[in-house]
Amino acid sequence: MIELAEAIARVEATARPLPPRRQVLLEACGRRLAEPVLADLDSPPWDKAMMDGFAVRDADCVAAGSDVVELEVVSDLAAGDVTGVSLRPGTCARIMTGAPIPPGADAVVPIERAVDGTATAHAGARVRFVETKYRAGQHVARQGIAFRRGAVVLPAGSMLDAAAVGLAAEAGATHVFADARVRVAILSTGSELVPCHDMPRHGQIRNSNGPLLAAAVTLLGAEPISLGVAADKPEAIRTAVAQGLGADVLVLSGGVSTGDLDLVPPTFAACGVDQVFHKVKLKPGKPVWFGILRRASAPPTLVFGLPGNPASSLVCFELFVRPAIRILAGSPRETWHLPRRRAALVSWVKGAGDRPVFLPCRLRKGAGAFEAEPLPWTGSSDLLGMAAASAIPGSLPGFIALPAGGDRYEPGADVEVVVRG
Ligand code: AMP
Ligand code: MG
Repeated sequence: MIELAEAIARVEATARPLPPRRQVLLEACGRRLAEPVLADLDSPPWDKAMMDGFAVRDADCVAAGSDVVELEVVSDLAAGDVTGVSLRPGTCARIMTGAPIPPGADAVVPIERAVDGTATAHAGARVRFVETKYRAGQHVARQGIAFRRGAVVLPAGSMLDAAAVGLAAEAGATHVFADARVRVAILSTGSELVPCHDMPRHGQIRNSNGPLLAAAVTLLGAEPISLGVAADKPEAIRTAVAQGLGADVLVLSGGVSTGDLDLVPPTFAACGVDQVFHKVKLKPGKPVWFGILRRASAPPTLVFGLPGNPASSLVCFELFVRPAIRILAGSPRETWHLPRRRAALVSWVKGAGDRPVFLPCRLRKGAGAFEAEPLPWTGSSDLLGMAAASAIPGSLPGFIALPAGGDRYEPGADVEVVVRG
């Protein structure tokens, strides 16, 4: 059994940032590009109308030399319509925003400029305009004005936010080379577990850790891969563990203490996973297991065995799995762990003597200082107390982190709170 600080230090020392990966564009959103995105076409790809109106030859307008010019409408072009027919002198095309400018035309006269009720003119009718001095290129977005084919539209290091994803899509990048999204396999072990859509029979309980851990992984921006439930049978656990070792991180719950059916640590060993620690001075979460599967030619898989009780699983996730995922994702050190704050206890709590304790609480701003209100909690199988902490607006869920050695902490005592919200 090792000290909590030592266990956290070993996780931090074992995890290494993942190399960038080629990914489907949308899956990379929120991460940074490792290679630039180049355009595979011009933008716009052709000269494009920027107003609803009439595509004209500016020469016609200039040549008219009067205040009013009259043209014959020879075609109707909506967005998506194309024509190969070039505009002859004295003609124009009715055109909608987003349609390609027809050959021969070089400006768009907005529909508002048409006079005498001719604004509704379609092919075959005549249209008259006032203010005939239209420059070539007016209300036209020229081909390639935004960017040219082959140009770098997003340099390496760009954050793939919504605008960048839209731009990459326009530039034809269906895949990008970007910081890796950490893949986290989640496996629940226990012959008593049934999926949450089932009503458990006597002796069974629902697998709450699976969804809990998948949610925690998702909230960290990583990708959960749910492997469901494996019964407490060596073969079942081994098969599922082998599958989970294909991910960057395998988070397994249940079966890590030293009971007869706790088959997990021997299975990890049989699969080549090297143990980094087993058992930490911590409450809840003492049986937690951590190891690494090293590979010659690929990044290793980090492996966590969390205790089966859901509250223990959550505490261990926040203390050990969270920093590992953050480090693999290349996040800066100040984001590895949940923030901590000092707060004044609202009601008394009990320490665990030899081990640090994490107790669910609600953190709120009191008169000047923060206050930590312990929540009723029946122990490590109780998620109600943990979930209740976020129900009241203006308060944040957290854990009161009591150091080893303390016994009873009275109201008003200065304690440390790990803030979850
Ligand atoms: P274990 O760590 O396997 O000894 O399990 C400790 C306790 O947690 C037992 O009461 C289990 O039934 C319970 N438990 C184990 N896995 C889960 C799970 N996935 N969801 C909810 N409870 C679980
Ligand atoms: Mg079990």
